[in-house]
Amino acid sequence: MKGLISMGFLLYTKDSIHFCISYIDICLFNIDIFLQLFELFLRYPPKIFLHFKKNIFYIDGSACRAIINFINQKDHGLFPSHIIGTHFQSHFKGGLFMERVFNFSAGPSMLPLEVLEQAQKEFVCYGSSGMSVMEMSHRSKVFEGILEKAQADLRDLMHIPDNYKILFLQGGGSTQFAMIPLNLMNKNNKADYVVTGQWAKKAAEEAARYGKVNIVASSADTTFDRIPELDESKFDKHADYFYITLNNTIYGTRWTKLPNVGDVPLVGDMSSSILSEEIDITKFGLLFAGAQKNLGPAGVTVVIIREDLLGNAMDFTPTMLKYDIHAKNNSLYNTPPTYGIYFMGRVFEWVKAQGGVAAMQKRNEEKAALLYDFLDSSALFRGTVQKKDRSLMNVPFVLPTEELNAKFIKEAGEKSFVNLKGHRTVGGMRASIYNAMPKEGVEALVAFMKQFEAENK
Ligand code: PMP
Repeated sequence: MKGLISMGFLLYTKDSIHFCISYIDICLFNIDIFLQLFELFLRYPPKIFLHFKKNIFYIDGSACRAIINFINQKDHGLFPSHIIGTHFQSHFKGGLFMERVFNFSAGPSMLPLEVLEQAQKEFVCYGSSGMSVMEMSHRSKVFEGILEKAQADLRDLMHIPDNYKILFLQGGGSTQFAMIPLNLMNKNNKADYVVTGQWAKKAAEEAARYGKVNIVASSADTTFDRIPELDESKFDKHADYFYITLNNTIYGTRWTKLPNVGDVPLVGDMSSSILSEEIDITKFGLLFAGAQKNLGPAGVTVVIIREDLLGNAMDFTPTMLKYDIHAKNNSLYNTPPTYGIYFMGRVFEWVKAQGGVAAMQKRNEEKAALLYDFLDSSALFRGTVQKKDRSLMNVPFVLPTEELNAKFIKEAGEKSFVNLKGHRTVGGMRASIYNAMPKEGVEALVAFMKQFEAENK
């Protein structure tokens, strides 16, 4: 019997494997052959198909070969000849047996595999709602539950006191560069900024459109390879706020000690370090972070703001850029980035399951030490940041020549270490090792760097 049946594919998870008959190409084939193929899948118990090791999926070689051989037998009539060995195999590579790479991207960056898999399971139907989170009204009870759970988990994870509001906004970190002065430069129309990289510079430039910006210190003179020394006599006691970038994504520096700003509200950009290390929220008036590094997909911006700073925005501030509007409406003034909030909530649960922020910090310190210890002992590689200010999240390094940098990036890519190219203003390489990067990923990178050094001495 010949029938019209869609192609099968394998779905695998950490501990199970399923054969699904629901995929893309509708093709004519012999139903008996299809059943034989199905039987072949069943003959291999899941554990033979699949090993889960070091966050990499791979299919047992013999099982994989048996299936591919079967599919590639041209005479079984399973697929029309023009797709045998090309089309189907490309699907194999594109979706079935593909290994995940080690992704060192600075952002958007890798996400915890467990969360991706959970989101995949819930993609079409969330809980008993019968619909995807993406299809849900933001005013529904189910979505409100998702939002409130995410807020509560973040409050718990970061020990955020009750007198701070948690807002889930849009517009990325860059919109905060304007919202902060519009809402906070409201008494004396001036603020202090420390310029530790491109993002701090952009924030200061944006703020200068709305009031007076006092650059307290900058490390631009040494291409931002450090957090600059601070001279407290340059701090303005009447500033409406004092602005810092806690982790500098491009240059790989971080503040390890906060400035002593007295009563002036401290404002911190934590876009590339939120949930990576413990932080004392009470030292801040406002903290913000775009989601696309440690929290989830791009599209949500988390703002944590002390309540007394709400409600004094400049008159001409657009409604959507007023913190108090979003605070009063519990981030539901307009349609929020619903799917991003859902996903971020799952990441919060994942961080909790890892042991919380303190456990993440320990893991991040161990991961970063692996790379920094190697850089310090290497005769070929060199870290670009002053030791005292090294980031736990972004590790820039260089080789002695541009040719070697290019060779390293190319060979690393061939070994599945991707997105290692440094920012154009620093050159060389940058390994971003956010919360979701497993220790094994950093160990594998360091092993590759050692091998590269031995081959290119
Ligand atoms: N601040 C920091 C520290 C960043 O790394 C970035 C880039 N992700 C931004 C702000 C700007 O964020 P966005 O692209 O979301 O506007």
